[in-house]
Order: sequence, then structure tokens, then C-alpha cells
Amino acid sequence: MLDESYNPVLDVDEPAPFDLMRLPSVDAVLSWRHARTLLQIPLLLLSVVMILHGLLGPSLSPKNLATTLTWVHFRGLLVLVILIAGNFFCFACPFMLARNMMRRFFRPRLNWPRRLRNKWLAVGLFVAILFAYELFDLWSSPWWTAWLIVGYFVAVLVVDGLFKHASFCKFVCPLGQFNFVASLVSPLEVRVRDQQVCTNCATKDCIRGRREAGPDLVVIQRGCELALFQPLKAGNMDCTFCLDCVHACPHDNVGILSRLPASELMTDPMRSGIGLFSRRKDLTALVIVFTFGALLNAFGMVSPVYVVERWLARSMHASHEAPVLGVIFVFFLIVEPLVLLGLATWSTRALGGSRRPLVPLAIRYSYALAPLGFGMWLAHYGFHLFTGLLTFIPVTQSTLANLGWSFLGGPYWSLTGIPVRFVQPIELCLIGLGFAGSLLVTRRLAEDDCAEHPMRAFVPWATVCLLISLASVWLIYQPMEMRATLMMS
Ligand code: SF4
Ligand code: SF4
Repeated sequence: MLDESYNPVLDVDEPAPFDLMRLPSVDAVLSWRHARTLLQIPLLLLSVVMILHGLLGPSLSPKNLATTLTWVHFRGLLVLVILIAGNFFCFACPFMLARNMMRRFFRPRLNWPRRLRNKWLAVGLFVAILFAYELFDLWSSPWWTAWLIVGYFVAVLVVDGLFKHASFCKFVCPLGQFNFVASLVSPLEVRVRDQQVCTNCATKDCIRGRREAGPDLVVIQRGCELALFQPLKAGNMDCTFCLDCVHACPHDNVGILSRLPASELMTDPMRSGIGLFSRRKDLTALVIVFTFGALLNAFGMVSPVYVVERWLARSMHASHEAPVLGVIFVFFLIVEPLVLLGLATWSTRALGGSRRPLVPLAIRYSYALAPLGFGMWLAHYGFHLFTGLLTFIPVTQSTLANLGWSFLGGPYWSLTGIPVRFVQPIELCLIGLGFAGSLLVTRRLAEDDCAEHPMRAFVPWATVCLLISLASVWLIYQPMEMRATLMMS
């Protein structure tokens, strides 16, 4: 039986939320069952072009579509769309189109292993991709970038070819996990419009799938493959915005509704398909890697990293970059979080009088770092997008010209993007936005956790947020290798 009073985000006194699906033009497009496929087809074709150009085109990254589109445009657009709307990149995911095509011929028979039904594998793969990015200089290698895309297609087809439901999205895909954590801060969420309608609903098609009338009960519209039961779904974690639930619900009771960004981090309801945030160590690890990985990834592109690498290589007598990078990764992703979050947790208990044990306390407050981490990813990826905004034009012109099609003219290599001096203030605003979001969430958690002395619980975590923000600001003002942006004159 559903708890009718339960709604993690909405308050009954609040005005009705904005519903994107109620905009006539949006509704007309997204209500069409094949809207997702229509968006996936061009992205699948573009992926093929990028793979071919990466493998067969120029080896200079600023002249290659694989590197330019992947590391300049795709990443920047992804975080901006998540910031202003939601996880629509998973909606348009071309890998899922390839998977769906394969599943027309091969039906997976296995269930994803019970021991792996968590995020630990995905966290490991997330770190592995960050590591490979630095080790193989992926931003400057069209060849490696193309193989990364190929590897992604192969992984999707193997995992979802063997295992049922959306095992790859939920338990494996590092990019998807990035999107899930980032979209905790998004202003939109796929959610039921009216809990009462769900209470009276007999079929629960949003999770079971809509079936054809008749003896065979053939599923004509699948329900949520990620095990998110709409009436008990809370927030964006694990939601790919695939809209299967929207199409499956016979009562038109699922929309894309507005909410206060990051509000889902302030409460800890039992979430369908997720459980309690406060019991999920794997999700906490994901948020920590997401946040400190943002600093690490930005650190990898500024000049001081070379000073640190040279010093480490000398100290370790290392002749290969891998062990040196390994030490940097251990510092950023293990030592630094352990020290900062450990001190904040201890202070919250000592000063604020929280009664939670240390580990659950650290887990609960660590979710508040997600907005700050997202702010840093936004600043970093936004930098590459804005400063290299127009680079796809000359790269496309040059690619077509090399194929003998010069109808686009050019290539106009002078087309780059917005000057750095205009982009840096935007980066500062994005970091500031993330900082403000993390402070708001921390404040709310402190009020819930230490009703008598919320400020004493708040200050240690606010200090951690401040330190991370200052480090982020320092990073964006460091001289930079102009990775994957147009460097030729
Ligand atoms: S099918 Fe629709 S009405 Fe029924 S439980 Fe799911 S979202 Fe609610
Ligand atoms: S079907 Fe599941 S993953 Fe897809 S939009 Fe609905 S809740 Fe999200």
C-alpha cells in the first residue's frame, strides 16, 4: 500500500510544480513513443563518424572530429543541459539504441549478479576512465578517443546482451553514474503528478510494463528498466530520463516536474530502487569520487601538475608516468577526502553533539558535496566548451574538404570561441553556485541532525566546502595546457 502523504520534494502548500510535459510543443514531441529513437539515430551516426575520423583522420587532435566533439563540445553541453534541465543526455544515449537493436535478435537470459548490485564496479570504472584520460592523454589522441567510443559500444552490447533489464546503465556505465550524481542538482525530475491516482491504480504499468489485451499479455511498452517504481521514486538517482514510465502509465500520471535543485539531497526517504542514501556507502563513494575527481581532472590540465609529476618521478625514481599518476590519484581520491571529511565528521560530533556514529555521519553529510563537485565540473567543461565553441566548424569543413566536398568553404581555423577573460568570470559564478548549493544542503542536514546546535554541525562541513571552492578557484586561474582546443594559428 502506498503512503499517500509521502512525497519527498513537494509540500502540499507549495504551488503546483511546472511540468515540462504540459507544454504543448514538448508534449507533442516527447509523448511520441519514438521520440527517443529519433534523437538517438543522429547521435549514433555521429558516433560512427567520430570513430572513423578518430581512426582514419588527422592525428592532430584539434583537427579531428573525435577529439573535438568528445572533449570540447559533448562534455560541455552535457553538464549545461543537466544544469538547466535534467539527464537528457542519457535520454539521447546512442549506446542504448545499439543495445535495443541487438535485443531484437538476442534476448538476455541472466540476472545481474546480486553481489554486484551496487555502484562499486561503476566507481572503479569511473576512476579508471579518469586515470586513462591522464595516462593516455585522451584529449590529444583521436585514435585512443575512437577506441574509447568503440569500447563503450562493445561493453554495452556484451553486458546488456547477457544480462536483463538496464544492467549496464544501473551498475556499470561510468558516464551514466556521472550524470546521475550531477542530475541530483537538476531542476527537473521525472515524477508522478498525483499520488492519489497511483494509490487507485491497479496495474502499476510504470514498473511492470503495459501489456496487450488478450491471453498472451505481450508487453507493448516496457516499464522502468532501472527498477524505479514511480509512486516511490524520489529524485534523479538512477533515472535515465528514458520516459518509458511516461509511455507505460495508462493514466497519464507521470510528468517531468520542477523541483528545488538539490532538494533531494536534503531529505533521506526510502527511495524505490535505491533505498536510503544514508545506508549506501557505494553511493557516498561515488559522490566523493565525483567531487574530488572534479578537482583532480582540473588539476591534470594546469601547469603545476607537471612540477608535481617531475618531483614525484625524481623521488620515486620512476621512469613511467603510471606510478606517478597513481600517487596523485591516491592523494586526491583517498588521502584528501579521508583527511577533510574525517576532520569534519569528528568536529560535527565533538562540537555539534550529533549522536550518529562516525561512519554514518560521514556518509550522510558527504552527499552535500555533490553541488560543489558539479560546480567544478561545470566550470571545467564549460571552459572548454565556451573557449572552443566554434571549433567544430573548421574541423567539419576540413573533414569534408579532405573527402572532396568543399561546399562549406574554409576551413576557417580562426574560428575558436569566447576569449578566456570572459569565460573565467562565468567559471567563478558556476563554482559559486555549487558552493552555495552545498552550503544550503549542509545547513539543512545540520538542522535535522543537531537541532540544538545546528551551526556547530554546519561549520566544519561549510569549512570543507570553502576549502574545496578555494582550491577550485585557484585551479581555474592556473596557466593551462590548451587541451583539445584549437591551438594552431
Ligand atoms: S502506472 Fe501510472 S498511475 Fe499506476 S502506479 Fe505507475 S505512475 Fe502511478
Ligand atoms: S522509466 Fe525509470 S529511468 Fe526511465 S524515466 Fe521513468 S523512472 Fe526514469
